[in-house]
Order: sequence, then structure tokens, then C-alpha cells
Amino acid sequence: MIVVEERIHLGMDDIDSPRGGCTTHFASLLVEYLSTIGAKWIDYPNLVRLNPNIPYRTRGNGAVALRFDIDSSESEGILKWVSEKIVGYIEKSYPNTNPGVIIVKGEISNDVTNFARRALWRALPIELARRILRKHELMHFCVGNGRGLIGALSSIGNQLRNDHTYEFLAYRGLDAIGETRGVNPQSVIEMDKMFSGRLFSNLDPVSGRILVEPRGPDPVLFGLRGEAAGDVIRAADHVQSSQDIDRWMVFRTNQGTNEHLENRLQISRLRPYIAVTVEGRVESQPTMLEGGHVVFKLGDDSGTIECAAYEPSGDFRKTILLLRQGDSIVILAGVRPSSKNHGLTLNVEGLQVREVTEQVEYANPVCPRCDRRMKSAGKQKGFKCANCGHRDAVAEKIATPVSRSLKIGYYLPPLSAQRHLTRPLARIKRRNRGRPDHMVEEWHIP
Ligand code: ATP
Repeated sequence: MIVVEERIHLGMDDIDSPRGGCTTHFASLLVEYLSTIGAKWIDYPNLVRLNPNIPYRTRGNGAVALRFDIDSSESEGILKWVSEKIVGYIEKSYPNTNPGVIIVKGEISNDVTNFARRALWRALPIELARRILRKHELMHFCVGNGRGLIGALSSIGNQLRNDHTYEFLAYRGLDAIGETRGVNPQSVIEMDKMFSGRLFSNLDPVSGRILVEPRGPDPVLFGLRGEAAGDVIRAADHVQSSQDIDRWMVFRTNQGTNEHLENRLQISRLRPYIAVTVEGRVESQPTMLEGGHVVFKLGDDSGTIECAAYEPSGDFRKTILLLRQGDSIVILAGVRPSSKNHGLTLNVEGLQVREVTEQVEYANPVCPRCDRRMKSAGKQKGFKCANCGHRDAVAEKIATPVSRSLKIGYYLPPLSAQRHLTRPLARIKRRNRGRPDHMVEEWHIP
């Protein structure tokens, strides 16, 4: 019998809910199944993070694509297996779970690639995804309003060509979800030291807090981020937890790449929910509001907009407070829609200081006779010395430059407040381009 192999790109999203379940965990079940029916993997599962400002995301707006070659007689069966399994997996009572699964055979069209590029920073309508599905007659399955098709299509179209990182995700058994994970912080600290320079964002060096253990009731036990698949797998051996690892899988991902921030817009073109960078000048000195949020106004040739750095961004707000009117900056942000009390607002995710303006303080002149600071002699009457009585009708206030402690540079909130997509300082100069030539032998269990 002649076996004809087909190349399959299978995208999925929204197979989760806040009370359990998770798209990546479901992907690991699917990888196990596909391996048993002869899938030849051409890439690690891709964990593609999309626009982090989308309001209906559960957590980090992640979708997953699997890429493999398989006997063409199997492809129809795959969608059937997935659709049956999903129905048993999701929480049907939760209205915000709208799974979508798509299969693309062979080449990925430009329509899909462009859609994926836009999903990184814009809010896209489901109808646009459906139009592409119809035009290219793509096999798909969805539940509820089908919103998961947006992420599913985007994960297929984003082949992580410009930069990528890896995440090792360890899962606990679904019956153990209500209990504490018990990841041992000391084991993470030691692991981080051991793999210094090859892992990132697993430990906050400032607070000492470990960042590998999620909080919610999802199946993830811990996740390790790094630059190479082999590193994250080896590093995982050193992490201790009170719960057992039920299964694990390595993902190639756009986490830590700033891929959502490749578009710069003028203020007048900003729209709700987009991820964007905006260049402009500080128009009002930042102030801290009750509750700890710091706000200021940014302006460019097209208009002005309010910017806000929130309380969880910690010491990053201290940097924002050093900004002064006229400073030239680039803001990395998500656009918050206007509300009753606020107009459109830039939620600040990062700051690049381009130029700091010279600031001056004005002081009264000093008396030439007795060296004391003079007082105003009245409106347009110059100054007089309260000590010796000297008067000077034409003297003016003296401008003295104030030294600025804010330096030109790139500033981010602490690691714990960064988005999955944010390029952390540890990766500023690092790029991992293209799909790896070969995959490590064991990248998922079982
Ligand atoms: P988890 O991290 O557990 O996978 P999540 O944060 O990824 O959860 P989802 O429950 O998957 O959140 O919900 C995100 C929803 O938003 C999905 O239905 C996805 O298809 C959709 N979505 C993603 N990006 C966009 C976008 N740019 N425009 C419109 N909808 C989007």
C-alpha cells in the first residue's frame, strides 16, 4: 500500500476556563494521541501569545499550533477525535469557553499569515476568521460562539520566524487541581543559578520571588522559560514540588519577544484594546493617585492622551514619576477604552526615555551688599533686601538648572508585572531565529 503523507498545521484555542483546564494541557493530550497514530513532528508545539489586551482572555491569551506530517488517511479522523475529546474536556457551564480548532493542510496562505500578524496587536472580529475559513475551505470545529477560531487561526499563521523562546510546562493530574502545588522556592533559586544566562523570567532578582508557579486552579504545576529546549528540560529536573508531575511538554513560543509591540501609531490613530508603541513628549508632570496609580499626559503632533502605570508595576512607577514636561519618550502600551471618568488611556507596559529636557528652578536674586536672598518689592517693582534695605528695580529671578536623575534608556516593570510577551531586560540583545534544525529526542511525556 502506498502511504501518502500530508503536512498538517493544527491550531487550537480557548479550551479552558478559570476553574480548570487549559489549552496547552489539552494540546499535550492531543500530542500523545497523534504520536500513537504516527505523526512525524516538524516542530515543537507552538505556544503563540496574542494581543494581551483582549478583554475576553482568561489569562495570557495563548493559542497552540501543532505541526506534523501524517498519513493522509488519518487527517479526517484527527478532527473527529479532537471534537469529541473537547466536548468532554471543557466546562460547559462556563459561558466564556468557546473552543476553536482548525486544520490547514500543506502551505499556509498569506491570508492566514496576515491575520496572525494582526492578532498580535489588534482586536479582530470572529467574522474575519470565518471568512478566511470559507475562502480557503479550512477544516474546523468550534463550540459556543466559536471565538477560539481567532486564536486557532493565528497560531497556525505565526510560525515564530523572527525570534522565539521555549517553555517547559509541567502538569499535575486533573484530580489534584484543588490542592497547593508546593513548588520549593529554594530549588528554583538554585536551578536559576545553575542555568544562568540560558533561562529567563523564572525568578525576580529584585524581590527574590519565584515566577514559575501559577496561582489559578489550572493543571499547570510549573513553567520554565528559556532560550533552548534542552535547557528547559534539564532545568526542570532540579525543580522540587509537593505535587507530582503527571505529564510535561516543551513549547516553542513567542514569549519574551515583544512581538505584540511592532507597531507605532500616532495618538489620533489609537483605538481600544490595541497593543502599540507611541512616541511623544510628556505634557504634564506625573502624579500618584490614591491607590498608587501614576498618571501623566503624553502628546504628539496629532493629540494628547492620558497614560497610567498601575500599582502592581511597583518601582517602575518611581521611574515614571521622574519624568518632566517636555521629555521625549516612547511608551509601550495597551490601549484601555474610555470609561465614565477617563478618556482613552495608555496602560504603560514599558518606557523608553529618548531625551530628558533641561529643567530649571527660579529663585530670587541675592543682595549684592549683604549676600542674603532678596524679596519681591511688589509687582514689577523688582526686589528689595529685607536685611540691609538695598533695592533693585530691574533685577529678575535667577534660573538655575536642576540636575535630572532620570537617564536615557529602556525601563520595564518588575518581572512579576510583565506580560508573557514582554521582552525582558535579560533578552534585550538576544534573538533566536527560525525553526530549529532538529528537535531534542524527548520533548514530551508521556
Ligand atoms: P489560557 O492562557 O488559559 O489559554 P487565554 O488567556 O488564552 O487562556 P482564552 O480563554 O483562550 O484566554 O480566550 C481568549 C479568546 O480571545 C480566544 O477565544 C481567542 O480566540 C480570542 N482572541 C485572541 N486574540 C484575539 C484578537 N487579537 N482579537 C480577537 N479575539 C482574540
